[in-house]
Amino acid sequence: SPIPDYLTQVLDTCAPDSGELAEYIPELAAVDPDRFALSLVTAEGDAYSVGDHQDAFTIQSISKPFVYGLALETLGFEAVLDHVGVEPSGEAFSEISLERNTGRPLNPMINAGALATHALVASTPPADSGVERILKLLSSLAGRELDIDEKVARSELDNGYRNLALANLLRSYDVFTGDPRAVVEGYVRQCAVRVTTADLGMMAATLASGGVQPHTGEQIFSRPVVRQVLSVMATCGMYDAAGDWLTTIGIPAKSGVSGGIIGILPGQLGIAVFSPRLDPHGTSARGVEVCERLSRDMNLHLMDAP
Ligand code: GLN
Repeated sequence: SPIPDYLTQVLDTCAPDSGELAEYIPELAAVDPDRFALSLVTAEGDAYSVGDHQDAFTIQSISKPFVYGLALETLGFEAVLDHVGVEPSGEAFSEISLERNTGRPLNPMINAGALATHALVASTPPADSGVERILKLLSSLAGRELDIDEKVARSELDNGYRNLALANLLRSYDVFTGDPRAVVEGYVRQCAVRVTTADLGMMAATLASGGVQPHTGEQIFSRPVVRQVLSVMATCGMYDAAGDWLTTIGIPAKSGVSGGIIGILPGQLGIAVFSPRLDPHGTSARGVEVCERLSRDMNLHLMDAP
């Protein structure tokens, strides 16, 4: 197949690198900033990986769309929409983007909405197994057993003043009941699940194939849930760069502050890229470049007529 050669060429041409590591989570600022990996998985499950694709990193905000899907599956659309909206905030991921009066977070891709979504999942029985259920979900999406980088989780929790403030604010509006500290603890462990780009590629491909994990054949998300998740990714997944991303690259996507990005072309493929240096939006700088290049070369933009 010519695909690996093409992907290697993309990696080779998408240097030099710029941007900063995520300093606010000390453990993330300690990684090798030059790591670079790219995976592409078709909706049928053909997988191609190049670069440092064996290297694991923490999933961070890329967990958000999947946990949102889990919330929709377990609680239903109405209950979830009651607690978390679907409007782009146009603001950075850690902003206090809440609806006036109700305190409902604008969408599940920003931290406020992801904390509320995590609290929803964690509040469904059996009690105290929220993180385990999330880990199980992410593992079944990846098609292998994942684990949690407890060191990164601890590092984030020890410095998690802002997420704790957001959780307290949500609690004050009764967006969730229960202990804000426990919600943040669960949320940072959700963010600290360890993955490779090959794993993320499979997870993205599962969304590309209507919720069916291409290797195991398991229907993990229903079609309506996949549609909801991809729609929210397209409009809100890149925070205050969502419009720029959708106009230039044109596919639903999600980034995380450890340097990962996933993109989904519905019915066709999942993409995952990893490079730790971040642009001012908290998105992998080189990852954006790679996605621009892939979109251009392979005509991935969803708004182009076929
Ligand atoms: N765990 C990170 C946080 O809450 C995730 C943010 C991100 O990846 N954008 O700050």
